[in-house]
Amino acid sequence: MHDATKLIQSAGDERLFGGKRVRLINPGEGQASTVLFESYEDLVAANAGEYPGVTYGTDRLPMQRAFEEAIRDLEGGGLTRAFPSGISALINTLLAFTQAGDHILICDNAYGPITHFCQAILARFQVEASPVPANAGADIAAHVRPGTRLVLLESPGSNTFELQDIPAITSLARERGIITVLDGTWATPLLLRAFELGVDVSVQSATKYIAGHSDVLLGAVTVTPALAGRFDAFYRVMELFAAPEDCRLALRGLRTLPVRLRQHGQSALEIAQWLSGHDLVDQVLHPALPGHPEHHLWRRDFQGASGLFGFTFRAEYPPDRLAAFVNALELFGIGYSWGGYKSLVTAGRYQRSLPSRYEGRTIIRLSIGLEDPRDLMRDLATAMSFLP
Ligand SMILES: *Cc1c(COP(=O)(O)O)cnc(C)c1O
Repeated sequence: MHDATKLIQSAGDERLFGGKRVRLINPGEGQASTVLFESYEDLVAANAGEYPGVTYGTDRLPMQRAFEEAIRDLEGGGLTRAFPSGISALINTLLAFTQAGDHILICDNAYGPITHFCQAILARFQVEASPVPANAGADIAAHVRPGTRLVLLESPGSNTFELQDIPAITSLARERGIITVLDGTWATPLLLRAFELGVDVSVQSATKYIAGHSDVLLGAVTVTPALAGRFDAFYRVMELFAAPEDCRLALRGLRTLPVRLRQHGQSALEIAQWLSGHDLVDQVLHPALPGHPEHHLWRRDFQGASGLFGFTFRAEYPPDRLAAFVNALELFGIGYSWGGYKSLVTAGRYQRSLPSRYEGRTIIRLSIGLEDPRDLMRDLATAMSFLP
């Protein structure tokens, strides 16, 4: 055999050593475009769409399937599909379940880019999106039209942390044949049982707590058994897939999610309580605090709290004062996304379509990482001394 051929023939997927199969503790399948068939007969079956195994890289490689099954079992849903990011998961969910002429409802505190997608792209396909209050419940009935086909919820919602009354909305939607989609990224499936609350489609940005180390972009969508066929068919036609390495890292993240999330939640609540008593702080936007307007819904529907919350100052500071505060933080990185081991801060005012509790107010958002909360409080206290 010549060198060029040797190089091609080497390092295939041999799994027998000393006549024993090597079985690793973690799934080991890696990257591939081509998946080799055992025989011509298998190829013929694949051509006919009758091959039961994996046919190609876009046919969801083993690592992706392992991640999807883990999420499906955790969610208690019928079928899970992985996406290259959380926003891709949201966008494709809307594409999968709408068609021209439909009307959809979106809670006013939904992740900003999905609202933008509706306005910039979905509207071109004659799907009209309109907002419902960030704290919507049974009052959502007033927004439902004859053509309403889908409701997108996010609870607690992005940056302002209002909660929706999920069971009130899902029972109303179910009566009218409206599909309910919940972005449950804040709680993860561990702290919010979407399907037990009547939700049809649960979306996760696995980028956040599930991966947990700020090194992966990945999304997951889980649907009820009733919607499984429809969603699977959509996914196949779109030739969607998620990168094996990202699925591997997210699967690895899932192993430690319960312990990490417990620590994120404990530290965040301790810091939120401490902030509530601080002279310069006005409101702390954390659903586990009794003063949160939807605290009763959180107690009823959630199994705990994660590590992301916001707060407002009593005063609205000019930009240079706010900059002095944020820049003085030494342990909090300034950056988007959240759910990783390192604490992060963002600050901003959020545009809403409907009247908001926080109109014109600057919200400081903290993602509490896995540092010792005493150090984080000291860091916050020092930075706040730059404010008055
Ligand atoms: C971050 C986020 C997304 C988008 O996830 P990416 O993986 O960053 O695209 C969607 N929904 C919520 C609530 C998020 O916080």
